[in-house]
Amino acid sequence: MVNLEVWQQLTNELAAKSITLVAVSKTKPAADVQALYNAGQRDFGENYVQELVDKQPVLPQDIRWHYIGHLQSNKVKYIAPFVYLIHAVDSFKLLQEIDKQAAKHNRTINILLQLHIANEDTKHGLDERGMIELLDYYEAQKDTLQHIQICGLMGMATFTDDEAQVRAEFARLHNFYKHIKATYFIAQPQFNTCSIGMSGDYNIAIAEGSTMVRIGSMLFGARG
Ligand SMILES: *Cc1c(COP(=O)(O)O)cnc(C)c1O
Repeated sequence: MVNLEVWQQLTNELAAKSITLVAVSKTKPAADVQALYNAGQRDFGENYVQELVDKQPVLPQDIRWHYIGHLQSNKVKYIAPFVYLIHAVDSFKLLQEIDKQAAKHNRTINILLQLHIANEDTKHGLDERGMIELLDYYEAQKDTLQHIQICGLMGMATFTDDEAQVRAEFARLHNFYKHIKATYFIAQPQFNTCSIGMSGDYNIAIAEGSTMVRIGSMLFGARG
């Protein structure tokens, strides 16, 4: 069930700060997406390729679909015709595959690089060194990668009640974001996105420089 009141409040709060709200609709029916769309929401996030591929054709075509989960290279082709932004790119191989599939459809796909900030083994992403290696590689091969646009960084904090830890993890991501922007993307205004913050920690993320929050349960209710 969609909570339109919470959505309206959140939308007003985020608009005042120029922060993009991605409504995370994973596991929720298309009717819930449609309800938020009718209220004015346009950015939606999904984690599972099959679910996204099922929902996309039955919902309005001007929805900006964000793929926020871990994406396997062999599945890029299914979402390449329509996906707007892929949040969790963490290998050069995946980046190349996204470029290849985007080229087939004559489009440019926006991507974010995922920085591993959580104190948990289970979460994907690159550490700072790995990301610099990837970006050096990207710089060297940029001319052959014309169908992707790197727009910023994404990260997920540790699932913990320790606010100080979450804050430190988001601060680490934001500092690295600024470093990467100054080093590799100084002349590229489209590198402008820091995707941090979920239902439980978005206030901390905003205080630490988020420009895009990914909010699911707060809008759609708890997932089963
Ligand atoms: C599910 C998910 C979210 C949304 O989480 P909520 O706690 O429901 O707001 C955000 N980002 C990612 C990567 C997710 O998998």
